[in-house]
Amino acid sequence: MKKIEHIGIAVRNLEEANKTYKSLLGFEHYKTEAVESDGVMTSFFTCGESKIELLEATSPESPVAKFIEKRGEGIHHIAFYVDDIVAEMARLKNEGFTVLSEKPKRGADNKWVAFLHPKSAHGVLIELCQEITEDH
Ligand code: ZN
Repeated sequence: MKKIEHIGIAVRNLEEANKTYKSLLGFEHYKTEAVESDGVMTSFFTCGESKIELLEATSPESPVAKFIEKRGEGIHHIAFYVDDIVAEMARLKNEGFTVLSEKPKRGADNKWVAFLHPKSAHGVLIELCQEITEDH
């Protein structure tokens, strides 16, 4: 694992949350992006080496909608940057973590992503992410 790439925060209203995080950080988000497979609209802020990803559910079946229903708004996941997501998924499986997919999938912000079940990591949903490049 290289660094914390971003922290994902589940919010009820992306527009409101964008305003709040703009006030908090002192600058604008750099993109808004829909991830249809996860039923979310995302917004990204860069803060030094890391980012903040705000997540608003776009359907009631979205995992983010379910998260908010159960736990309210708040930190949804922590994403770590890795150089080789396939190798990391295999390593972590071997270490006893529950990896939530067989293969990495396309996530927001031009990344391959995979998740570890929160039960594997003391209640925190862990995301692995790797930049998508042309040859990869
Ligand atoms: Zn994320």
